[in-house]
Amino acid sequence: MKLGDMQQNPRHLINGRWDIGTTTGVSTNPSDTREVVAEYARADRNQTELAIRAAADALPHWSHSTPQRRADALDQIGSELLARKDELGALLSREEGKTLPEGVGEVARAGQIFKFFAGEALRVQGELMASVRAGVQVDVTREPVGVVGIIAPWNFPFAIPAWKIAPALAYGNTVVFKPAELVPACAWALAEIISRSGLPAGVFNLVMGSGREVGQTLVDHPLVNALSFTGSVPTGERILQAATARRAKVQLEMGGKNPLVVLADADFEQAIECALQGSYFSTGQRCTASSRLIVEAKVHDAFVARLRQRLEALKVGHALERGIEMGPVVDAGQLDQNLAYVEIARNEGAEHVWGGERLERPTPGHYMSPALFLARPEHRIAREEVFGPVACVLRADDYEHALALANDTPFGLCAGICTTSLKHAMHFKRHAEVGMTMVNLPTAGVDFHVPFGGRKDSSHGSREQGRYAAEFYTTVKTGYMLA
Ligand code: NAD
Repeated sequence: MKLGDMQQNPRHLINGRWDIGTTTGVSTNPSDTREVVAEYARADRNQTELAIRAAADALPHWSHSTPQRRADALDQIGSELLARKDELGALLSREEGKTLPEGVGEVARAGQIFKFFAGEALRVQGELMASVRAGVQVDVTREPVGVVGIIAPWNFPFAIPAWKIAPALAYGNTVVFKPAELVPACAWALAEIISRSGLPAGVFNLVMGSGREVGQTLVDHPLVNALSFTGSVPTGERILQAATARRAKVQLEMGGKNPLVVLADADFEQAIECALQGSYFSTGQRCTASSRLIVEAKVHDAFVARLRQRLEALKVGHALERGIEMGPVVDAGQLDQNLAYVEIARNEGAEHVWGGERLERPTPGHYMSPALFLARPEHRIAREEVFGPVACVLRADDYEHALALANDTPFGLCAGICTTSLKHAMHFKRHAEVGMTMVNLPTAGVDFHVPFGGRKDSSHGSREQGRYAAEFYTTVKTGYMLA
């Protein structure tokens, strides 16, 4: 099947068959809203239940499949994603709005994730332990958790599904994948590749549709043993309550309000680059985006002046146009929300430095200029996740003050520091209350083979990615034997 076909009508994959929906939805190009990217099938509760039953039926066989078989399938998926990264990256940019290099880079990363977990399928480990009793041998082995419901957001439509689906399959689970409604063509493209990788029918299922109907059915269904969710805090909290009430295993990755601390001794241009990339690339639509720039007083004014200069020159436009550095906002609702936060910031007395305005471009799209404010810690713009190209600068007296400001948030995903002081870098790495720290690097931009996740309101459950993913996608069994 060619890309052109699938853009017409992405369908559900249920028990190895492509199925039409009960209703149809559309996704449009945020860089040019006249262009429909996909007309896709939307599932209802019944279709979602069929997918869940298919995954449950496929489980006994797949959970005992050989690691080599799983590795082969994952490796094939990874190879195809890597081979088609330019074509699929362009699709991603058309549907989600990140720039073409960002889109291509994300598809390549998804490919690398599948390749990594192809290797992990061959490295499932256990332990052989001494017993406290004479003649008894103890072993600890890992087994699949069962049917996994995967609920994904729109902002990384290849990478986030990849880092959930790949370990789920690697460790012998079966999957029902529900993508975000804004990115059905990307979800379909990924599912179509997975469908040709030799997996038995029902091992991997795709159902598209609303969170309220499709997502909630996954969350509530007794045959779904585990739920991996990435998205907003309110949705995550609802899922946690419902899933724990029926004792399903649950993993949540949610929002962030990530700080980037800039000390006076930092390499100045490097710090500006970290702030620019971390706050505004991918249109600020990253859970790891730096939205609080905490700058030591001695360099505060120079930092703000230089960052403003860089923002004035930042090229905002059509995601597929060469040289564009920041694409459009994903949709009209998110753009309205970003502009509402700009208004809130002004009304609360934050000092406007640059941007935060709707932009006109040759094609009709959801464009805005990158926004920068000087804020105080109590301002909403310094406390709440905007999820757009909107950042604020907070002035810090010294390193200790900067660290206190960095930790003064309910979120705890990621924190960065720009400094040439080894002492401060090491202290920050130990004392930042987050899951990931960055020294002289943007807060956004992580490797695919090491743990990803946060603390506080940002995450719940065990880490994603790398070999730590085994914690979520397997359950441990302890065996005793009289030798
Ligand atoms: P969202 O919470 O609105 O939706 C996420 C997914 O949940 C979608 O597929 C949606 O359809 C589904 N959903 C909605 N209601 C549901 C329900 N009642 N039951 C089950 N599923 C339901 O989030 P979004 O707008 O798609 O994504 C943006 C958010 O994602 C931001 O807050 C961002 O910080 C977060 N995010 C976090 C990470 C991370 O790893 N921490 C990564 C990317 C994005």
